[in-house]
Amino acid sequence: MAHCFLYTANPARILFGPGSLSKIADEIRHLGCSNALVLSTPSRREDAECLHRQLKGLGVGIFSEAAMHTPVAVTERAMAVYAELGADCIVTLGGGSAIGLGKAMAYRTHAPQVVVATTYAGSEVTPILGQTENRIKTTIKHASVLPDVVIYDAELTLGLPVAISVASGLNAMAHAIEALYSKNSNPITDLMALEGIRVLKIALPLIVEQPYNLTARNNTLYGAWLCGTVLGTVGMALHHKICHTLGGSFDLSHAETHAVMLPHTAAYNAQDAKRALAPVTQLFDGELGSGLYDFAQLIGAPLTLKELGLAESDLDRAADLAVENAYWNPRPITREAVRELLQHAWSGTRPT
Ligand code: NAD
Repeated sequence: MAHCFLYTANPARILFGPGSLSKIADEIRHLGCSNALVLSTPSRREDAECLHRQLKGLGVGIFSEAAMHTPVAVTERAMAVYAELGADCIVTLGGGSAIGLGKAMAYRTHAPQVVVATTYAGSEVTPILGQTENRIKTTIKHASVLPDVVIYDAELTLGLPVAISVASGLNAMAHAIEALYSKNSNPITDLMALEGIRVLKIALPLIVEQPYNLTARNNTLYGAWLCGTVLGTVGMALHHKICHTLGGSFDLSHAETHAVMLPHTAAYNAQDAKRALAPVTQLFDGELGSGLYDFAQLIGAPLTLKELGLAESDLDRAADLAVENAYWNPRPITREAVRELLQHAWSGTRPT
Protein backbone atom coordinates (compact mmCIF):
# COMPACT_ATOMS: atom_id res chain seq x y z
CA MET A 1 0.00 0.00 0.00
CA ALA A 2 1.33 3.49 -0.87
CA HIS A 3 2.31 5.55 2.16
CA CYS A 4 0.20 8.64 2.83
CA PHE A 5 0.80 10.54 6.04
CA LEU A 6 1.47 13.79 7.86
CA TYR A 7 4.72 13.90 9.82
CA THR A 8 5.41 16.49 12.52
CA ALA A 9 8.12 16.42 15.19
CA ASN A 10 8.78 18.34 18.39
CA PRO A 11 12.05 20.26 18.74
CA ALA A 12 14.51 18.40 20.94
CA ARG A 13 17.99 18.82 22.36
CA ILE A 14 19.03 15.50 23.86
CA LEU A 15 22.29 14.83 25.69
CA PHE A 16 22.52 11.06 25.90
CA GLY A 17 25.00 8.78 27.62
CA PRO A 18 26.64 7.95 30.95
CA GLY A 19 28.38 11.02 32.36
CA SER A 20 26.39 13.53 30.30
CA LEU A 21 25.20 15.29 33.46
CA SER A 22 28.66 16.93 33.62
CA LYS A 23 27.54 19.25 30.78
CA ILE A 24 24.56 20.70 32.64
CA ALA A 25 26.10 24.06 33.59
CA ASP A 26 27.05 24.68 29.94
CA GLU A 27 23.48 23.88 28.91
CA ILE A 28 22.05 26.42 31.35
CA ARG A 29 24.44 29.09 30.03
CA HIS A 30 23.57 28.09 26.47
CA LEU A 31 19.94 28.94 27.29
CA GLY A 32 21.09 32.40 28.45
CA CYS A 33 20.16 31.63 32.08
CA SER A 34 22.05 31.89 35.34
CA ASN A 35 19.57 31.35 38.20
CA ALA A 36 18.21 27.81 38.17
CA LEU A 37 15.62 26.45 40.58
CA VAL A 38 16.15 22.69 41.00
CA LEU A 39 13.01 20.53 41.30
CA SER A 40 12.64 17.01 42.68
CA THR A 41 10.32 14.72 44.61
CA PRO A 42 10.88 14.55 48.42
CA SER A 43 12.70 11.20 48.21
CA ARG A 44 15.27 12.60 45.74
CA ARG A 45 16.13 15.66 47.88
CA GLU A 46 19.73 14.55 48.50
CA ASP A 47 20.30 13.91 44.78
CA ALA A 48 18.82 17.35 44.05
CA GLU A 49 21.29 18.91 46.52
CA CYS A 50 24.14 17.09 44.81
CA LEU A 51 22.94 18.32 41.41
CA HIS A 52 22.61 21.87 42.78
CA ARG A 53 26.30 21.75 43.75
CA GLN A 54 27.20 20.71 40.19
CA LEU A 55 25.57 23.83 38.76
CA LYS A 56 28.74 25.83 39.62
CA GLY A 57 26.98 28.88 41.05
CA LEU A 58 24.10 28.81 38.57
CA GLY A 59 21.61 27.37 41.10
CA VAL A 60 19.47 29.58 43.37
CA GLY A 61 17.66 26.91 45.34
CA ILE A 62 15.78 23.61 45.52
CA PHE A 63 12.07 22.81 45.68
CA SER A 64 11.60 19.13 46.50
CA GLU A 65 7.85 18.76 47.01
CA ALA A 66 6.88 17.45 43.56
CA ALA A 67 4.08 14.85 43.74
CA MET A 68 2.48 12.39 41.35
CA HIS A 69 -0.28 13.65 39.00
CA THR A 70 0.93 17.27 39.42
CA PRO A 71 -1.44 18.72 42.04
CA VAL A 72 -2.12 22.40 41.26
CA ALA A 73 -1.61 23.38 44.94
CA VAL A 74 2.00 22.13 44.80
CA THR A 75 2.61 24.06 41.57
CA GLU A 76 1.39 27.25 43.23
CA ARG A 77 3.82 26.76 46.15
CA ALA A 78 6.69 26.13 43.73
CA MET A 79 5.77 29.24 41.71
CA ALA A 80 6.01 31.35 44.89
CA VAL A 81 9.50 29.95 45.61
CA TYR A 82 10.56 30.54 41.97
CA ALA A 83 9.53 34.21 42.21
CA GLU A 84 10.97 34.72 45.70
CA LEU A 85 14.41 33.40 44.65
CA GLY A 86 14.48 35.37 41.39
CA ALA A 87 14.96 32.19 39.34
CA ASP A 88 15.16 32.40 35.53
CA CYS A 89 15.02 28.71 34.61
CA ILE A 90 14.06 25.30 35.90
CA VAL A 91 16.30 22.27 36.31
CA THR A 92 14.27 19.14 36.97
CA LEU A 93 15.74 15.93 38.35
CA GLY A 94 13.56 12.82 38.36
CA GLY A 95 10.66 11.08 36.67
CA GLY A 96 7.27 12.20 35.49
CA SER A 97 6.24 13.66 38.86
CA ALA A 98 9.10 16.15 39.10
CA ILE A 99 8.94 16.80 35.35
CA GLY A 100 5.18 17.46 35.57
CA LEU A 101 5.83 20.16 38.14
CA GLY A 102 8.47 21.80 35.94
CA LYS A 103 6.10 21.72 32.97
CA ALA A 104 3.25 23.20 35.01
CA MET A 105 5.55 26.06 36.02
CA ALA A 106 6.80 26.56 32.46
CA TYR A 107 3.20 26.70 31.24
CA ARG A 108 2.58 29.60 33.63
CA THR A 109 5.92 31.44 33.25
CA HIS A 110 7.47 30.22 29.95
CA ALA A 111 10.61 29.44 32.00
CA PRO A 112 13.21 27.40 30.09
CA GLN A 113 13.58 23.84 31.39
CA VAL A 114 16.53 21.49 31.57
CA VAL A 115 15.41 18.00 32.55
CA VAL A 116 17.56 15.22 33.92
CA ALA A 117 15.28 12.23 33.39
CA THR A 118 15.66 9.29 35.78
CA THR A 119 12.66 7.05 35.08
CA TYR A 120 11.27 5.65 31.82
CA ALA A 121 7.94 7.53 31.74
CA GLY A 122 8.94 9.75 28.81
CA SER A 123 7.28 12.99 29.93
CA GLU A 124 10.52 14.93 29.31
CA VAL A 125 10.02 14.73 25.52
CA THR A 126 6.30 15.54 25.29
CA PRO A 127 4.49 18.89 25.08
CA ILE A 128 1.79 17.37 27.31
CA LEU A 129 0.99 18.43 30.86
CA GLY A 130 -1.43 16.50 33.06
CA GLN A 131 -2.42 18.24 36.27
CA THR A 132 -4.87 17.42 39.04
CA GLU A 133 -7.31 19.56 40.96
CA ASN A 134 -10.33 18.34 42.97
CA ARG A 135 -9.51 14.74 41.98
CA ILE A 136 -9.91 15.49 38.28
CA LYS A 137 -6.89 15.21 36.02
CA THR A 138 -6.92 17.45 32.98
CA THR A 139 -4.46 17.49 30.11
CA ILE A 140 -3.00 20.43 28.23
CA LYS A 141 -0.94 20.14 25.06
CA HIS A 142 1.16 23.24 24.49
CA ALA A 143 4.63 23.98 23.09
CA SER A 144 5.55 26.00 26.21
CA VAL A 145 5.65 22.87 28.39
CA LEU A 146 8.11 20.94 26.23
CA PRO A 147 11.51 20.91 28.00
CA ASP A 148 14.30 22.72 26.12
CA VAL A 149 17.08 20.30 27.02
CA VAL A 150 16.92 16.67 28.17
CA ILE A 151 19.84 14.85 29.75
CA TYR A 152 19.77 11.04 29.87
CA ASP A 153 22.60 9.91 32.11
CA ALA A 154 22.22 6.23 33.00
CA GLU A 155 24.58 6.58 35.96
CA LEU A 156 21.78 8.43 37.77
CA THR A 157 19.34 5.56 37.19
CA LEU A 158 21.42 2.73 38.65
CA GLY A 159 19.63 3.06 42.00
CA LEU A 160 16.10 3.24 40.56
CA PRO A 161 14.43 0.38 42.47
CA VAL A 162 13.78 -2.68 40.30
CA ALA A 163 10.03 -2.60 41.02
CA ILE A 164 9.79 1.01 39.79
CA SER A 165 12.08 0.24 36.85
CA VAL A 166 9.95 -2.59 35.46
CA ALA A 167 6.64 -0.75 35.89
CA SER A 168 8.12 2.36 34.34
CA GLY A 169 9.55 0.32 31.45
CA LEU A 170 6.09 -1.11 30.73
CA ASN A 171 4.71 2.42 30.90
CA ALA A 172 7.15 3.31 28.11
CA MET A 173 6.11 0.26 26.07
CA ALA A 174 2.46 1.31 26.40
CA HIS A 175 3.25 4.63 24.67
CA ALA A 176 4.82 2.76 21.77
CA ILE A 177 2.04 0.18 21.42
CA GLU A 178 -0.62 2.89 21.28
CA ALA A 179 1.56 4.86 18.84
CA LEU A 180 1.63 1.89 16.44
CA TYR A 181 -2.16 1.87 16.10
CA SER A 182 -2.60 5.59 16.52
CA LYS A 183 -4.86 7.22 13.96
CA ASN A 184 -2.01 9.57 13.03
CA SER A 185 0.87 7.09 13.12
CA ASN A 186 3.47 7.42 10.37
CA PRO A 187 6.50 5.41 9.21
CA ILE A 188 8.91 7.37 11.41
CA THR A 189 6.95 6.99 14.64
CA ASP A 190 6.46 3.30 13.74
CA LEU A 191 10.23 2.87 13.50
CA MET A 192 10.79 4.59 16.83
CA ALA A 193 7.99 2.70 18.56
CA LEU A 194 9.14 -0.71 17.37
CA GLU A 195 12.76 -0.06 18.19
CA GLY A 196 11.76 1.23 21.64
CA ILE A 197 9.76 -1.92 22.40
CA ARG A 198 12.48 -4.18 21.03
CA VAL A 199 15.19 -2.57 23.17
CA LEU A 200 13.04 -2.54 26.32
CA LYS A 201 12.07 -6.18 25.91
CA ILE A 202 15.74 -7.16 26.05
CA ALA A 203 16.96 -4.65 28.64
CA LEU A 204 14.24 -4.89 31.32
CA PRO A 205 14.84 -8.56 32.24
CA LEU A 206 18.54 -7.73 32.47
CA ILE A 207 17.82 -4.90 34.93
CA VAL A 208 15.86 -7.38 37.08
CA GLU A 209 18.90 -9.65 37.20
CA GLN A 210 21.54 -6.94 37.43
CA PRO A 211 20.10 -3.58 38.53
CA TYR A 212 23.56 -1.95 38.41
CA ASN A 213 24.31 -3.03 34.85
CA LEU A 214 25.11 0.31 33.18
CA THR A 215 24.57 -1.01 29.64
CA ALA A 216 21.10 -2.34 30.50
CA ARG A 217 20.23 0.96 32.20
CA ASN A 218 21.55 2.96 29.24
CA ASN A 219 19.62 0.83 26.73
CA THR A 220 16.44 1.17 28.79
CA LEU A 221 16.79 4.96 28.80
CA TYR A 222 17.28 4.79 25.03
CA GLY A 223 14.08 2.76 24.62
CA ALA A 224 12.24 5.09 26.99
CA TRP A 225 13.35 8.13 24.98
CA LEU A 226 12.04 6.57 21.74
CA CYS A 227 8.74 5.59 23.36
CA GLY A 228 8.34 9.01 25.03
CA THR A 229 9.01 10.72 21.71
CA VAL A 230 6.15 8.90 19.98
CA LEU A 231 3.87 9.67 22.94
CA GLY A 232 4.60 13.34 22.32
CA THR A 233 4.08 13.08 18.57
CA VAL A 234 0.96 11.01 17.84
CA GLY A 235 -2.40 10.58 19.55
CA MET A 236 -3.05 7.91 22.17
CA ALA A 237 -6.25 5.88 22.69
CA LEU A 238 -8.11 3.58 25.11
CA HIS A 239 -5.11 2.48 27.15
CA HIS A 240 -3.97 5.99 28.04
CA LYS A 241 -7.52 7.14 28.67
CA ILE A 242 -8.16 4.36 31.21
CA CYS A 243 -4.81 4.89 32.98
CA HIS A 244 -5.40 8.64 33.08
CA THR A 245 -8.80 8.01 34.71
CA LEU A 246 -7.44 5.54 37.25
CA GLY A 247 -4.54 7.81 38.17
CA GLY A 248 -6.40 11.10 38.31
CA SER A 249 -9.64 9.99 39.96
CA PHE A 250 -8.52 7.04 42.12
CA ASP A 251 -4.96 8.15 42.83
CA LEU A 252 -3.45 4.90 41.55
CA SER A 253 0.28 4.91 40.97
CA HIS A 254 0.98 5.94 37.35
CA ALA A 255 3.56 3.44 36.07
CA GLU A 256 2.08 0.46 37.91
CA THR A 257 -1.37 1.21 36.47
CA HIS A 258 0.08 1.24 32.95
CA ALA A 259 1.88 -2.03 33.69
CA VAL A 260 -1.32 -3.77 34.83
CA MET A 261 -3.56 -2.40 32.08
CA LEU A 262 -1.26 -2.91 29.06
CA PRO A 263 -1.88 -6.64 28.38
CA HIS A 264 -5.65 -6.05 28.63
CA THR A 265 -5.88 -2.97 26.41
CA ALA A 266 -3.50 -4.55 23.87
CA ALA A 267 -5.66 -7.69 23.79
CA TYR A 268 -8.79 -5.54 23.40
CA ASN A 269 -7.37 -3.81 20.31
CA ALA A 270 -5.40 -6.76 18.89
CA GLN A 271 -7.90 -7.80 16.21
CA ASP A 272 -8.94 -4.34 15.03
CA ALA A 273 -5.32 -3.13 14.86
CA LYS A 274 -3.91 -6.43 13.62
CA ARG A 275 -1.80 -5.02 10.80
CA ALA A 276 -0.33 -2.13 12.81
CA LEU A 277 0.51 -4.47 15.69
CA ALA A 278 1.86 -7.35 13.59
CA PRO A 279 5.61 -6.67 14.11
CA VAL A 280 5.23 -6.23 17.86
CA THR A 281 2.90 -9.23 18.12
CA GLN A 282 5.69 -11.28 16.58
CA LEU A 283 8.05 -10.08 19.32
CA PHE A 284 5.59 -11.39 21.92
CA ASP A 285 5.17 -14.94 20.60
CA GLY A 286 2.25 -14.30 18.27
CA GLU A 287 -0.33 -13.27 20.91
CA LEU A 288 0.11 -9.69 22.08
CA GLY A 289 -2.17 -9.63 25.16
CA SER A 290 -1.02 -12.90 26.69
CA GLY A 291 2.57 -12.30 25.53
CA LEU A 292 2.67 -8.95 27.34
CA TYR A 293 1.05 -10.52 30.41
CA ASP A 294 3.69 -13.26 30.52
CA PHE A 295 6.45 -10.70 30.02
CA ALA A 296 5.09 -8.53 32.87
CA GLN A 297 4.96 -11.62 35.09
CA LEU A 298 8.50 -12.61 34.12
CA ILE A 299 9.93 -9.25 35.16
CA GLY A 300 7.87 -9.14 38.38
CA ALA A 301 5.50 -6.30 37.47
CA PRO A 302 2.16 -5.99 39.26
CA LEU A 303 -0.62 -7.90 37.47
CA THR A 304 -3.81 -6.72 39.22
CA LEU A 305 -5.51 -3.39 39.91
CA LYS A 306 -6.51 -4.97 43.21
CA GLU A 307 -2.92 -4.98 44.46
CA LEU A 308 -2.59 -1.30 43.49
CA GLY A 309 -5.35 -0.51 46.00
CA LEU A 310 -8.38 -0.08 43.75
CA ALA A 311 -11.61 -1.29 45.38
CA GLU A 312 -13.77 -3.60 43.28
CA SER A 313 -16.69 -1.29 44.05
CA ASP A 314 -14.85 1.52 42.19
CA LEU A 315 -14.89 -0.34 38.86
CA ASP A 316 -18.33 0.94 37.85
CA ARG A 317 -17.38 4.58 38.35
CA ALA A 318 -14.01 4.02 36.64
CA ALA A 319 -15.83 2.59 33.59
CA ASP A 320 -18.25 5.54 33.57
CA LEU A 321 -15.39 8.06 33.69
CA ALA A 322 -13.34 6.24 31.05
CA VAL A 323 -16.14 6.48 28.48
CA GLU A 324 -17.44 9.92 29.50
CA ASN A 325 -15.96 11.74 26.50
CA ALA A 326 -15.80 10.15 23.08
CA TYR A 327 -12.30 9.50 21.68
CA TRP A 328 -10.78 7.51 18.88
CA ASN A 329 -9.72 3.87 19.34
CA PRO A 330 -9.08 1.14 16.75
CA ARG A 331 -11.90 -0.98 18.23
CA PRO A 332 -15.16 0.77 19.08
CA ILE A 333 -15.55 1.48 22.79
CA THR A 334 -18.62 0.59 24.80
CA ARG A 335 -19.15 1.11 28.49
CA GLU A 336 -19.89 -2.60 28.89
CA ALA A 337 -16.66 -3.67 27.20
CA VAL A 338 -14.58 -1.24 29.28
CA ARG A 339 -16.25 -2.45 32.47
CA GLU A 340 -15.40 -6.05 31.57
CA LEU A 341 -11.82 -5.15 30.68
CA LEU A 342 -11.43 -3.38 34.03
CA GLN A 343 -12.79 -6.42 35.85
CA HIS A 344 -10.16 -8.63 34.18
CA ALA A 345 -7.41 -6.15 35.03
CA TRP A 346 -8.66 -5.89 38.61
CA SER A 347 -8.41 -9.62 39.20
CA GLY A 348 -5.41 -10.16 36.90
CA THR A 349 -6.93 -12.65 34.46
CA ARG A 350 -4.45 -13.60 31.73
CA PRO A 351 -5.83 -12.33 28.40
CA THR A 352 -6.53 -15.08 25.88
P1 NAD B 1 7.73 9.37 39.54
O1 NAD B 1 8.33 10.52 38.89
O2 NAD B 1 6.69 9.63 40.60
O3 NAD B 1 8.88 8.45 40.15
C1 NAD B 1 8.55 7.28 40.88
C2 NAD B 1 9.39 7.24 42.17
O4 NAD B 1 10.71 6.97 41.81
C3 NAD B 1 9.38 8.56 42.94
O5 NAD B 1 9.29 8.29 44.31
C4 NAD B 1 10.73 9.14 42.59
O6 NAD B 1 11.22 9.97 43.61
C5 NAD B 1 11.57 7.88 42.45
N1 NAD B 1 12.74 8.03 41.58
C6 NAD B 1 12.80 8.66 40.40
N2 NAD B 1 14.02 8.53 39.88
C7 NAD B 1 14.75 7.80 40.75
C8 NAD B 1 16.09 7.31 40.75
N3 NAD B 1 16.90 7.53 39.72
N4 NAD B 1 16.50 6.58 41.78
C9 NAD B 1 15.66 6.29 42.81
N5 NAD B 1 14.38 6.73 42.86
C10 NAD B 1 13.93 7.47 41.85
O7 NAD B 1 7.05 8.33 38.52
P2 NAD B 1 6.89 8.36 36.94
O8 NAD B 1 6.15 7.13 36.64
O9 NAD B 1 8.17 8.64 36.28
O10 NAD B 1 5.98 9.61 36.65
C11 NAD B 1 4.59 9.60 36.93
C12 NAD B 1 3.98 10.96 36.66
O11 NAD B 1 4.38 11.43 35.38
C13 NAD B 1 2.47 10.96 36.65
O12 NAD B 1 1.99 12.12 37.26
C14 NAD B 1 2.14 10.95 35.17
O13 NAD B 1 0.88 11.48 34.88
C15 NAD B 1 3.25 11.78 34.60
N6 NAD B 1 3.59 11.50 33.20
C16 NAD B 1 3.35 12.48 32.28
C17 NAD B 1 3.65 12.30 30.95
C18 NAD B 1 3.40 13.40 29.96
O14 NAD B 1 3.79 13.28 28.81
N7 NAD B 1 2.79 14.48 30.37
C19 NAD B 1 4.21 11.07 30.52
C20 NAD B 1 4.43 10.08 31.46
C21 NAD B 1 4.13 10.31 32.80
